[in-house]
Amino acid sequence: MPQKTIFKKIIDGEIPADVVFEDDHCLAFRDIDPQAPTHVLVIPKKEIASWSDIAEEDQKLIGHLALVIRQLAVDLELGAGYRVVVNNGQEGGQTVDHLHFHLLGGRGMSWPPG
Ligand code: AMP
Repeated sequence: MPQKTIFKKIIDGEIPADVVFEDDHCLAFRDIDPQAPTHVLVIPKKEIASWSDIAEEDQKLIGHLALVIRQLAVDLELGAGYRVVVNNGQEGGQTVDHLHFHLLGGRGMSWPPG
């Protein structure tokens, strides 16, 4: 068995997280090292290592995550605007091998990203 990622341990309740939303398919919790006043990670409970590993069968799940993120932005009062980020692979800056969406808001964002 490959070692559990930190996010799988959060899903399994083995380490704590500041959870802001949960349903049968996903979990959203505050990033431990926030890069904006609001910085939430939205993850599928299914173990998908990265954006590159999304399969045809995950189409509905990914669509569900998109709708959850949209609703979270409302609930977290990010009406002024926000950014959704997926870091993919080494050069993309991915550090945890479990697919996750960063939802960032509460400040103005610059472009291009670093
Ligand atoms: P990435 O660099 O895109 O793979 O993002 C991983 C994110 O996970 C980083 O923003 C980390 O701050 C965050 N992170 C790592 N460990 C934890 C944890 N235990 N609880 C919440 N966020 C975490």
